Amino acid sequence: MTPQTADLAKAVRAFVEQEILPLEATFLKHGFKAVLPGLQNVRQKVMAQGWWLPPLHAPEGMGLSLSAFARLSEELGRSPLGHYAFNTQAPDIGNMEVLQRHGTPEQKERFLKPLAAGEIRSSFGMTEPEYPGSNPVWMNTTAVLEGDEWVINGHKWYTTGFEGSAFCIVMCVTDPEHPNPYARASQIIVPTDTPGLEQVRKISVMGEPGEDWMSHSEIRLHQVRVPRENLLGQRGRGFAIAQERLGPGRIHHCMRWIGIAQRCFEMMCQYAAKRELSPGKPLGSRQAIQHLIADAKAEIHAARLMVLDAAEKVEQQGAEGARVEISVIKYFVAGVLQRVLDRAIQVHGGLGMSDDLPLSFFYRHERAARIYDGADEVHKTVVARAALKEYGLEVSL
Ligand SMILES: Cc1cc2nc3c(=O)[nH]c(=O)nc-3n(C[C@H](O)[C@H](O)[C@H](O)COP(=O)(O)OP(=O)(O)OC[C@H]3O[C@@H](n4cnc5c(N)ncnc54)[C@H](O)[C@@H]3O)c2cc1C
Repeated sequence: MTPQTADLAKAVRAFVEQEILPLEATFLKHGFKAVLPGLQNVRQKVMAQGWWLPPLHAPEGMGLSLSAFARLSEELGRSPLGHYAFNTQAPDIGNMEVLQRHGTPEQKERFLKPLAAGEIRSSFGMTEPEYPGSNPVWMNTTAVLEGDEWVINGHKWYTTGFEGSAFCIVMCVTDPEHPNPYARASQIIVPTDTPGLEQVRKISVMGEPGEDWMSHSEIRLHQVRVPRENLLGQRGRGFAIAQERLGPGRIHHCMRWIGIAQRCFEMMCQYAAKRELSPGKPLGSRQAIQHLIADAKAEIHAARLMVLDAAEKVEQQGAEGARVEISVIKYFVAGVLQRVLDRAIQVHGGLGMSDDLPLSFFYRHERAARIYDGADEVHKTVVARAALKEYGLEVSL
């Protein structure tokens, strides 16, 4: 870490403590909309500091390197509201990166500019209820070019942040006969007020109905017509663009998870040091609790170093060159997060289960870490296949 990155991370940590953590109690009790005015205020302060959109290139963002942003993302991840305050919440940040890289000048003006300014939100619709998200080339949403318009029909779900978003980037099969299955789909920008685009429902997840950018929707597209200029990037390059987006995106997620794990670890230690089982005998005096703390410390440290190593490799060799490292951290860090969270709740006893602390929110919310952006099993397969290949065994999918 360069001294500049270290200083920035320290300053951002203090900012999160002072400006964002105080909003958490209201957020946990009354939901996201209750803290939105406060968060808008925080966003103004983030902009005034020159910290807006750290990972996005200029002119919209700060243009931090992936490894520098990884450190910052850990600090933002300490709070469920941290990334939103810096406009780096998923899926908006991924959509901005794709628009910046592949958008036409008109698309950048119409979609990227207001998104980067924090004036609108967006969503990304790839997964379909009837088809396995783990096999993304198998999907049923189609887009057919009729004259100057794409006509889209399909069914998507888990479209995060769809509710209230201004547009959704939809993955559609445009070239079903292409011999290469990875060249059959394209990404198309669909404004959410387009006739035929329907929100079927918000999916309740782990007891939470979901709100705003933290909601997940099931959507249907019935004869949805958008201009042919709404194609994002080249026709048939939908998967390639998705892969470009998911590589760094997984690093962002992993670092955010480390931020959560680190905060839970600190809460666990504080509680173990002060909660007394009997006069003068705090929880932390028990070896069973000490082992929970030691295991968490070691796992977080290992996870952090692995993520920084993967980020460096992406910088040097691109996401494709770091494919195995990215898969390793995706399942390893998600597992560390869940083990640390579980230990932190255990040490807090009944208090840990209550919604007075963020632990139960994190626990509910982050169970999905082992599923979205590739389930554990899929990433383990990538890693094992690469390892076995070196021993002469080619495992087909
Ligand atoms: C909170 C959340 C947010 C999401 N946000 C979005 C979003 O914004 N946009 C979007 O398009 N999608 C989103 N998703 C969808 C997500 O990407 C998919 O759920 C994921 O890709 C898995 O696909 P699936 O649910 O269809 O599971 P399936 O592919 O049906 O797999 C089911 C299970 O089978 C196992 N499995 C799968 N493949 C293998 C294998 N090769 N070997 C062994 N076991 C295997 C795994 O345990 C897996 O969990 C989100 C999901 C969640 C939970």
